[in-house]
Amino acid sequence: MKNKLTNSQNIFVSEEEKTLNWTDFQSELRKNFGEEIYSSWLKNITLVKEYNDYLILGVPTRFFRDWIVSRYLDKILELIKNFKLSLNRIEFRINEDQKIVKNEEIKFDDLSKVTEIKDSILNYNRLNPNLNFENFIKGSSNEIALSYSKKVCENNSRYNPLYIYGGVGLGKTHLLNAIGLELQANNEVMFISAERFMYHFIKSIKKNDMVNFKDFFRKSSVFIIDDVQFIRGKESLQEEFFHTFNSLIEKGSQIVISADRSPMKLDRVQERIKSRLSGGLIIDIDVPDLELKKNIIKKRIEVMQNQFKENIDITEEVINYISGETKTNIRELIGVLNRIVAFSRVHKRVLNIGDCKNILKDVFSQNKVVTVDKIQNTVSNFFSITLNDMLSQRRSRPLARPRQIAMFLAKKLTTRSLPEIGRRFANRDHTTVIHAVKTITKLSEKDEEMKKNLTQLKSLLLEN
Ligand code: ADP
Ligand code: MG
Repeated sequence: MKNKLTNSQNIFVSEEEKTLNWTDFQSELRKNFGEEIYSSWLKNITLVKEYNDYLILGVPTRFFRDWIVSRYLDKILELIKNFKLSLNRIEFRINEDQKIVKNEEIKFDDLSKVTEIKDSILNYNRLNPNLNFENFIKGSSNEIALSYSKKVCENNSRYNPLYIYGGVGLGKTHLLNAIGLELQANNEVMFISAERFMYHFIKSIKKNDMVNFKDFFRKSSVFIIDDVQFIRGKESLQEEFFHTFNSLIEKGSQIVISADRSPMKLDRVQERIKSRLSGGLIIDIDVPDLELKKNIIKKRIEVMQNQFKENIDITEEVINYISGETKTNIRELIGVLNRIVAFSRVHKRVLNIGDCKNILKDVFSQNKVVTVDKIQNTVSNFFSITLNDMLSQRRSRPLARPRQIAMFLAKKLTTRSLPEIGRRFANRDHTTVIHAVKTITKLSEKDEEMKKNLTQLKSLLLEN
């Protein structure tokens, strides 16, 4: 049979041999994806084996495979069918060895690349001068973390790595930054989040610049990496991280790490990395108690007074109130304080608790999780009817109205969908919920009694 010419030039589907011309296919990839994507990613794919209905392609690393599969695979399959219609599947074989050989072959004659990687990393390597030890307030939840952070600064490499973990907004980045500030005078300090590390890693792969990447990260004498949980599930990043880690430890560099959980709880992270991370000292930061929160507020007020050069008058009562309301997060606590201070400065008066409640209503209510259950209980209590009656099929007004109000509030205050809400109300249809929402919305516009009831119910639900 004759060879058939497809719509693209120089592409032949040989009906007799039914084999793929890989070189031709690569130029087709280049044409379709453009030079940059092609040379960064697709050029590295090799043809390992061809079957009638599928191909085995070789890629340097898992990371390459994941990247290609998630971004380009659909298009590749589509193109490949132009070459050989019977192909309907692609499998990848990962060839790590190939990667090593390739990297060793890279020649760096273009010195500008060195400064480029350096500059772009330096941009993210800046330490924040305000996040120092002096501004870090000690409390029972963080004193061990604080004391070992300081010890690492006095006596390099005794605790290596120092691993600090804890929830969001508890001061991990602050402590890591403080260590960096302390040590930077006499050391080559690298301070980077795991996410930025990944960014530079990918960029270097794309630019064939891995040698510089490795050199750059491995030459630091203090390596501080923030939010290391980011490496979870990212195989080739872990690979690179592992090697960086090993060579730093080998040359005696101090490593400091933060994460949102302990090393052993890092799921989807290789065991050997977890064990490396656990090889030094592991410390957690706990949620702050009331006293620490109050002390942080007082210190911040002091700092702001110096900054604004004016007196900031906040009563002890208000300090107690915001410390109590902010449940766990110091970042949120500071945000709340800033808001109150701003309000007080604009209105030039000392605020009382009522003012603060008003100013912070939306902040604190956002944190409240309102459930359909809670709405049903609160509404039935409010109207002095039983929950069973409210959910029943009876249609008398004293039961139907509260039922509709509860559905309305469920729609407004939870993220549940209409059908879900219907189901929670004794398996009613979503159209019943729509009807309830419409009815109550209309009533709330003209009926004073309804308006008042809704306001009271909302405050019961959001403020308790
Ligand atoms: P994390 O990295 O744990 O999410 P951060 O270090 O970013 O938390 O801290 C959040 C905010 O709270 C920052 O503004 C930080 O300066 C402040 N902060 C946290 N702990 C303290 C503390 N003990 N003393 C003073 N400020 C703190
Ligand atoms: Mg942080």
